[in-house]
Amino acid sequence: KNKVLDTSSKDLTPSYDWFQTDYLVTVVIYTKQKGMNSEMVIVDHQDGRLRVDSILRDYSYLLHIELSYAVQEDITVHIAEKVGKVEIVLKKKDNIPWSKLGQPLNSHNSFIKCTDRGLYYRKCKLISKTEVTHDTKLFCLMLPQSTHLQVPVGHHIYLKQIIAGTEIVKPYTPVSCSLKSDFKEPSHHDSTHLILMIKIYPNGLFTPELDHLQIGDYISVSNSEGSFKKSQVQTLEDLFLLAAGTGFTPMVKLLNYVLTNVCSLRTVKLMFFNKTEDDILWRNQLEQLALKDKRFEVQFILSEPKKEGTGKQGKISSSLLSDFLKRSKKDSKLLICVCGPAPFTEQGIQFLQDLGYSKEEVHRFTA
Ligand code: FAD
Ligand code: NAD
Repeated sequence: KNKVLDTSSKDLTPSYDWFQTDYLVTVVIYTKQKGMNSEMVIVDHQDGRLRVDSILRDYSYLLHIELSYAVQEDITVHIAEKVGKVEIVLKKKDNIPWSKLGQPLNSHNSFIKCTDRGLYYRKCKLISKTEVTHDTKLFCLMLPQSTHLQVPVGHHIYLKQIIAGTEIVKPYTPVSCSLKSDFKEPSHHDSTHLILMIKIYPNGLFTPELDHLQIGDYISVSNSEGSFKKSQVQTLEDLFLLAAGTGFTPMVKLLNYVLTNVCSLRTVKLMFFNKTEDDILWRNQLEQLALKDKRFEVQFILSEPKKEGTGKQGKISSSLLSDFLKRSKKDSKLLICVCGPAPFTEQGIQFLQDLGYSKEEVHRFTA
């Protein structure tokens, strides 16, 4: 307790330790970083192998161990945010003393750049599949009981399938089950399930296979990736969202997050680009949210409307943007988020640059 810390030679490499009682084994990771949260620790346990990936800024600290004895499937993760201590509590199947935690597996106790870690997949069960529009569905996947994985706002995961003998991997952005203005902390459901809103392309490589999955089937889901940081919206006053087609998906959690957690927020405006009326995702929910929350406004822009006069027509353009991007007050703190087909995003970013918005004021969602 009274140890004097020598801060001059402070080693920032995380370390770990473990201890046990008759019933429990607790693995403790000292990340040596403040501001840890639940999204930064990914835990998996499969076939007696424990894998704990702690994401510390751009680095990953991995524990990867073949446990000495069997443990139960329900694993608890505690995070002491201020001191950066992570505790993983395992329940022994047999109440016998362990002489060691287990055998190290590959990359155990390594601290490397996240980009060098490679993706890790676990199999998730398809729980439900519900229609959103004529070609888009919500896929609800259940994580294994022993997996702890929470996808941060604006981040995506990868799905992997073997198609005609080849491994194919594609990114998808988890959404919430609905747009709700009473969203507070992530619910229990959020940490045990992943909800994906996916458009099925009849001639596509990956999505028709996905559409063939039956309830109860399994699919491989990776850890998450993404460049969006909550700090980008922390003291925000105006948020503008430019979404095209399924480029709407990162906006879902973002909307729920900012409307409940960012108290400085004055306006959130979504400009949603689609081909036809029938392609608009969650139109009803968006309109309901706009009625309920006066800070939120939505505009629909159709590139191939079926009927005349049902709202604005066209594609992304400089004039459309300059009319839309009105600050709630002079010099307000603002962010513009863009997501959609690559040409849409490219053009959007170019128009915004030409209109004088800085790099810090624009975020593009990409892989
Ligand atoms: P593809 O085989 O890629 O084909 C897509 C369409 O293009 C089809 O209509 C096909 O006929 C046409 N096409 C294919 N090749 C050609 C060609 N050579 N010339 C002309 N046309 C062609 N999608 C979602 O639905 N939901 C999400 O949440 C989501 N999140 C994403 C997050 C990120 C970070 C990124 C980068 C993409 C995301 N996507 C999302 C898109 C997703 O990753 C896939 O690209 C999408 O599902 C298409 O998959 P596919 O293999 O079925 O179609
Ligand atoms: P879509 O083909 O139905 O088009 C929707 C709208 O996008 C159109 O109405 C039009 O306004 C605009 N658009 C399309 N092509 C354009 C072009 N060449 N130039 C300017 N505007 C154009 O869209 P979709 O099939 O739903 O595709 C959505 C796209 O969003 C996919 O390419 C997907 O990869 C991407 N996406 C990316 C992320 C991400 O990076 N995080 C997340 C989700 C979706």
